[in-house]
Amino acid sequence: MKKKIWTVILVVILFLVVPIPAGPYKDGGTKEYKAMTYRVIKWNKLLNIQYTDLDFPEFQHGCFHKTSVYWFPDNFESQRKLYDSEIKTILDREGYIDYFVLVNKENKLPDDWEDKLETVTIKNYLGDDVEVEKRAYEAYSMLKEDLASEGIFVELDSARRSVAAQQRIWDDFTVKYGEEYTKRYVAVPGYSEHHTGLALDLYLVIDGADVYENEDMVEYPEIWAKIHEKLADYGFILRYLDGKESITGYGYEPWHIRYVRSKDAARFIMDHGDTLEEYLGRLPETDVAPPEE
Ligand SMILES: [Zn+2]
Repeated sequence: MKKKIWTVILVVILFLVVPIPAGPYKDGGTKEYKAMTYRVIKWNKLLNIQYTDLDFPEFQHGCFHKTSVYWFPDNFESQRKLYDSEIKTILDREGYIDYFVLVNKENKLPDDWEDKLETVTIKNYLGDDVEVEKRAYEAYSMLKEDLASEGIFVELDSARRSVAAQQRIWDDFTVKYGEEYTKRYVAVPGYSEHHTGLALDLYLVIDGADVYENEDMVEYPEIWAKIHEKLADYGFILRYLDGKESITGYGYEPWHIRYVRSKDAARFIMDHGDTLEEYLGRLPETDVAPPEE
């Protein structure tokens, strides 16, 4: 007990006496800046849970445990960019894709995505080929089995669509219906979450009959509720929430689920009723204000 008190006193003294270092500040290890003002940035815990339950040790104890304090000037471009680049470095090294990739009407699929993506292609009950990112498919299979054990039967309607395939659809529509119509009804190539291989459209099998038309599927809200309850257990989230059209750019789609891999993060997102945009927007906060000069 006494030891503890002395430790606290020592820390307080050190805090008061040891000056904050002046000079060039690092942006987390990549570049140095000569800064008059600076901030101390700690990535908050929220962000770390994205990666804590992945299966490589660097993230198991929370990423950035070694470099959780960053010095950089106020005019540094953005904390988000810094975070993204740090994450990307680690994921690239480990051969992982970024399961939190954000692709929407404003955010394009990363250029190197399709080179890195590993997929499996399966046939659904309708006999169509469906291509899914490999880890997302494993997780989906477990989700499907779990649901079946409770008498809920789902199938994959569609999953990955390549940018090239989307371009072909776009071109066909433009020729047939003109640009105006195409813009309204077809996702711009490169800007559809389905490019990632992580977005899955489910359909229902009810009393042995396939229910895959959107207007029919929405007739089963209580079945979707049970499905949504289980998503996070397998690293999935519901992507296009009711009432969040202005954020996602899409109306409510109970069938469109998105793999993020981390069950902790998926649970957080589902519990908070967040869209992926909102979750990723809960960004690192500056927890130490810049000192007066
Ligand atoms: Zn979809």
